[in-house]
Amino acid sequence: MPLGKPAGVRCSQLTAENTCAIFGQPERPQVCVRLMPSQEMCGASSAEAFRTLMLWETATAP
Ligand code: SF4
Repeated sequence: MPLGKPAGVRCSQLTAENTCAIFGQPERPQVCVRLMPSQEMCGASSAEAFRTLMLWETATAP
């Protein structure tokens, strides 16, 4: 996504299985490389992770 990924927009590199299509490749953005997943962020399921991320997105929106 050359112009950046807007908040709430699915990344063009995200596969149907919710994995990163460019994981481990040099073109993967540094923000993704540096992000350290945590239990607080990921929860116990992808549904829980999406809920948490949406809460954080809302709480930090300008
Ligand atoms: S890790 Fe980064 S590049 Fe890969 S799918 Fe997620 S947001 Fe996109």
